[in-house]
Amino acid sequence: MTAPRFDNSYARLGPGFFSRTPPTPVGDPALVALNRPLAERLGLDAEWLSGPEGVAMLAGNAVPQGAEPIAQAYAGHQFGGLVPQLGDGRAVLLGEVLAPDGARFDIQLKGSGPTPFSRRGDGRAWLGPVLREYLVSEFMFAAGVPTTRALAAVTTGETVLRESALPGAVLTRVASSHVRVGTFEFFAIRGDAERLQQLADHVIARHYPGASGAMDLLRAVVARQAETVAQWMALGFIHGVMNTDNMAVSGETIDYGPCAFMDGYHPDTVFSSIDRGGRYAWSEQPRVAVWNLAQLASCLIPVMGEEQQAVAEATTIVHAFPELYQFAWLRRFGAKLGLSDPAPEDRALIERLLDVMAAQQADFTRVFRGLVTGEAAAEFTDPEPFKAWAADWRARNPDPDLAARANPARIPRNHRIQQVIDAGVGGDFAPFHRLNEALALPFDARPEWDDLSLPPSAGQEVRVTFCGT
Ligand code: AMP
Ligand code: MG
Repeated sequence: MTAPRFDNSYARLGPGFFSRTPPTPVGDPALVALNRPLAERLGLDAEWLSGPEGVAMLAGNAVPQGAEPIAQAYAGHQFGGLVPQLGDGRAVLLGEVLAPDGARFDIQLKGSGPTPFSRRGDGRAWLGPVLREYLVSEFMFAAGVPTTRALAAVTTGETVLRESALPGAVLTRVASSHVRVGTFEFFAIRGDAERLQQLADHVIARHYPGASGAMDLLRAVVARQAETVAQWMALGFIHGVMNTDNMAVSGETIDYGPCAFMDGYHPDTVFSSIDRGGRYAWSEQPRVAVWNLAQLASCLIPVMGEEQQAVAEATTIVHAFPELYQFAWLRRFGAKLGLSDPAPEDRALIERLLDVMAAQQADFTRVFRGLVTGEAAAEFTDPEPFKAWAADWRARNPDPDLAARANPARIPRNHRIQQVIDAGVGGDFAPFHRLNEALALPFDARPEWDDLSLPPSAGQEVRVTFCGT
C-alpha cells in the first residue's frame, strides 16, 4: 500500500501563478467511486486510494506528504466579457504525478472548499455536478475524445446550500494540465511579460515539446482545438460554457458544467440555463473556439518577438482554424457514414443527412448508430427523405465496421444522468455504477444495456442544464 508520489512543477513556477491553499476538511467522507483503470494508468495504488488514508486525501481531509496544494490563478472572457480575475474558486491542485510511462498528470480536488479566488462562492460542489462530470468525462475518454478524467468521487457528509440543501461531494479530476486560455489572459492583462514567457515555456515543455517558441505553441494549440471541437460535434456534444477560462491549452475538454448531448438533432440546440443568447449552441462551437484562440493569440504577442510581424503571423495561424476544423469534421463525419477516405463532395452528402435529421429533430445518436444496424429509418416520423438519402449513401459503399467504431450505441443522455443523480441523492449509487460501466464501452452492442440507448420518453426529457456548482 503506497501513497502517491507528487511532483509540483506548477508550484515551482513561483509566486504570482497561484495561492497556496490547502483543501478544507469535511465531516464524514465516503467513497462513491474510484476509477481503478485510471489509477492503474497513473501508476497509483488503488488499494491505498480506497483505504482510509486514500479517502482522506480524496476528500481533502489529509494532504499527503509531498503534495503542495495550490489554487491556480486565471482570468477569462465569460460570455464575451473580460473578467480579470477568476482562478480556482472551488478546487485545489494537490500536485502532479508521473505515470509509469513518464506522462505528467495533475491531480485536482474539485469542491474542496474556499480559496482566495472563491469570491462569493462557498468553494463546494454538490453531488449532482460531481456525478455528471464523472460520467461525461469518462464517456468522452472511452469515445476517444481528449478530456480531463475522473479518478474518484466522494460524498462529504455535509450539505451545501443551493436552491435547497444538497449533499456535498468532491471530484478528483485528472488532467494533463489545468492551464487554460484564461491563464495566459491573467498575465497578459497585467502586462507581466516575464510570467507570460514562463507560462509559455511550461506549456511547451509539458504539452508541445516540439514547439520552438510562442508562435509554434499557438499553431499547435489551434490544431489540437480544431480536432477536439470536431469530435464534440460528431458526438452531438454541447459544452455549454466555452468561456476562455474553460478552454484548456492542452486541447482536453475541461470544465463539464451545463454540458449535454443532444437527443433530437437541431444545430441551434442549447441546454445551459445561463446561455440565453445561444452563444454556445452546438453549431456555434467552432466559431467560439476561433474567438477564444484569437484571445490566446493576442495574449502571446508580447512574447512573440517583433510586434507587427508577430500580429501578422499569429493572425494567419488563427485564421487557419476553419480549414483545419473542416478537414477534421469531414474525417469524423465521414467515419460516421463509414467512409474511410471522404472526398470533399461527401461534405454535401453528410450535410444533406443532417438537414433531413434537423427537419424532423431525429435522434442524433440513434440515427447514426442506425446506419450501422440498418434501423436508422425508424428514427424518422417521415422516413421518405431519409430513404432517398440512404440510396445515395449506399452508392458510396460504406464500411459498416468503420461506422460501428465512430457511432456510439450509448451516450450519457440527460435524462439518464438525472435519474442517476436523483438516486444518488437518495443514497443509491447502483444506477451510477451501471451507467458508468455501460458508457465505458460505448461502441459495443450489449442487449443488457439496450435501455440506456433509448431516447427520453415524453415526461423524461431534460431541456435545461445548470452550471456545475
Ligand atoms: P465555471 O464557469 O463554472 O467553470 O466557474 C467560473 C468561476 O467561478 C471559477 O473561477 C470557479 O472557480 C468559480 N466558482 C464556481 N463555483 C464556485 C463555488 N461554488 N465556490 C467558489 N467559486 C466558484
Ligand atoms: Mg471553469
